[in-house]
Amino acid sequence: MRRIILVLAAILAQTAVLSAQAKIIAHRGHWNVNETGKGNVETPQNSLASYKAADQIGAWGSEFDVNMTSDGQLVVCHGPRIVSLADVQKETFNTVRGEHLSNGEAVPSLDELLVLIKKSKIRPILEIKEDYRDKEGYVPCFDKVAQALKKHRIDMDNLTIISFSLEVCKAAAKKYPKTMVQYLGGEKSPDELNALGIKGLDYHYTVFDKHPEWVKRAHDLGMEVNAWTVDKKRDIKRMAALGVDQITTNYPVLAQKIVDGTLPKKVLIIGAHPDDPETGCGGTMILMKRAGYDVKCVYLTRGEAGIEGVKGDEAAKIRSEEVKNACAITGADHVFLTQIDGQTEINKARYDEMLALIQDEDPDIVFTHWPIDGHRDHRICSILVYDSWRRTGRSFDLYYFEVMTGVQTQNFNPTDYVDITSVLEEKYKACYCHKSQNLEPVFEGWHTPMEVFRGIENRCKAAEAFIRQVNGNRIFEMPENK
Ligand SMILES: [Zn+2]
Repeated sequence: MRRIILVLAAILAQTAVLSAQAKIIAHRGHWNVNETGKGNVETPQNSLASYKAADQIGAWGSEFDVNMTSDGQLVVCHGPRIVSLADVQKETFNTVRGEHLSNGEAVPSLDELLVLIKKSKIRPILEIKEDYRDKEGYVPCFDKVAQALKKHRIDMDNLTIISFSLEVCKAAAKKYPKTMVQYLGGEKSPDELNALGIKGLDYHYTVFDKHPEWVKRAHDLGMEVNAWTVDKKRDIKRMAALGVDQITTNYPVLAQKIVDGTLPKKVLIIGAHPDDPETGCGGTMILMKRAGYDVKCVYLTRGEAGIEGVKGDEAAKIRSEEVKNACAITGADHVFLTQIDGQTEINKARYDEMLALIQDEDPDIVFTHWPIDGHRDHRICSILVYDSWRRTGRSFDLYYFEVMTGVQTQNFNPTDYVDITSVLEEKYKACYCHKSQNLEPVFEGWHTPMEVFRGIENRCKAAEAFIRQVNGNRIFEMPENK
């Protein structure tokens, strides 16, 4: 455990260093208030409510889109579709304003939003939509925006103008030489933009994956770099590590925690059957949960074959309910994969299923079965996880736990121990939630002696023991594996 903690401290320190860099921009306001990706009825994208929400969470900036209607007025919406209209630019202002967002707001006018901006602390990132009627040197929407900015006396030093239209960016850079103007297109190098007088690049993050050197080059030229729309934990981390100045995201709260280094570390405990994670790792998971880690149990199966005389579906139902009860005690979240107890498979589709789960969860630490085990499902679970560890580029620390050592787990020589004396009672309570498994005699016969023996090895009353996967990225690197 000592090692686990040291590694975590190193990760925290590493993330903290990044925090000075990237500023977080809510994409189209903070509409995804619960950060589930589904959005909220009360805060639709590009609404006054979503802009207020972005201000409330203290995001550095909020992006929003401006379109011009057929009669030359400005509205805030992404377009071309808005509610029931197919193309906002082909409709009159009054028609567009007659459309209502999911929270009952009329589609905002730019005037309305600018009034709000004057009152807020957040930096506006104003996207001018002129991309589908762009002609060289002809930027009517930009001209109207400029009039509105003047009318509302907007502080041009604390505003960013972005556009997919190079013409708009050129016009904005010329008219407002001190204002940050960022081009969205993605195909121009920093040198090319700089030659046009444009001071920033706001590109899809995959562009910076292809051209990481553009970040440094832009900085050398005194330009700013913004990456859109970065929603996945690993992508946010990578962009922050690359040194971009701003990250535009639909998950501003998550992104802020990542750059601040305050995002709780994610722990996955992956077992073959309901009760395996609790049995092998229950004490450690309770301790980690209490220490503020984000802990989730993953069950490969629902224990379909685990209750004698009870059919698969019915057994799965009972055992899924028992998982819920156990997790209520450990405090862990849980998720089930789709394998069947006693018939677990290992093939390309199953490798991919595990990989997709792990990529989605993006854990910092994973615990799973040790691969030498009398139970076929345990062996398969272990190998699936190990494969994902390799395929994600060893992106998490991997530890193996033991269950019923001697009977199930074999050849287990621990590298790490966790003293679980203080949480032994809760661990047993959680394990005994798996009532259908009648675990009391199993614990008495095998698990309790195992924990006591690991305690003797670790000089405490009771311990859980683990084997650490060597050659991980965060622990040490073998020179020959570089
Ligand atoms: Zn099992």
